[in-house]
Amino acid sequence: MSWIEVGTDIFCIRYAPLDQTIGAILTGEGLVVIDSRSHRVHARELLNDLRSLDARAPIYLINTHYHWDHSFGNDQFTASVIVGHMKTRQALVSRGIAMRDELATADWLEPETAQLIGEVEIAAPTITFDKLMSLMLGDRQIDMTYLGRAHTDSDIVITVDDTLFAGDLIEVGAPPSFGDSFPLEWIETLERMTPLCGGPVVPGHGDVVDRAFVESQTYEIRRAVAGEPVYPDDVMTQIAERM
Ligand SMILES: [Zn+2]
Repeated sequence: MSWIEVGTDIFCIRYAPLDQTIGAILTGEGLVVIDSRSHRVHARELLNDLRSLDARAPIYLINTHYHWDHSFGNDQFTASVIVGHMKTRQALVSRGIAMRDELATADWLEPETAQLIGEVEIAAPTITFDKLMSLMLGDRQIDMTYLGRAHTDSDIVITVDDTLFAGDLIEVGAPPSFGDSFPLEWIETLERMTPLCGGPVVPGHGDVVDRAFVESQTYEIRRAVAGEPVYPDDVMTQIAERM
């Protein structure tokens, strides 16, 4: 795997499992990484790849939301401060072990993956915020913004220069995941996010996109919420269950 430079010293990397996209930002004071992947093996692979950007461990790890594939690698980032929305922390502290144990026995996961997830030590963000927080590192400003409930109740976006890391608010190459979502509010949250999209938009899964993609996915979700069958049946059922 290799890093894609989407802006000056702003990177993302694609991993085949779950078609996941991880972000990294190089600052004068060290590296910031966005999301930690699913378990020890994935997180260590990421840490190893990060070394090609900066030999030191990342100073900050930001979780875009609490989902396992974005936060269950947290326990490997022992040298980093973990930052996320207060509800990401709440979810991991109150339900992290239950989420982990459920996945560890899930028959839809590869047995090896399920076993690795069963061994995860849940590590929640230790620095949290509600609406907005900025990291001022060297001459770089990294803003983290909570725009409302959407894919979960805890999704944040990270902006640096004109790049926006959208987590799973945007899903590229597959339908969005509605299992823990708030479908109607998701539309409004994306509408609040759109003005922040002036350059590359990095999703939690799939290719880097742009504002036009965000607008088209917002429209697609709006149609799906109105009952138009724009997604496969199982996804439409998920939406109906969350309405
Ligand atoms: Zn997610």
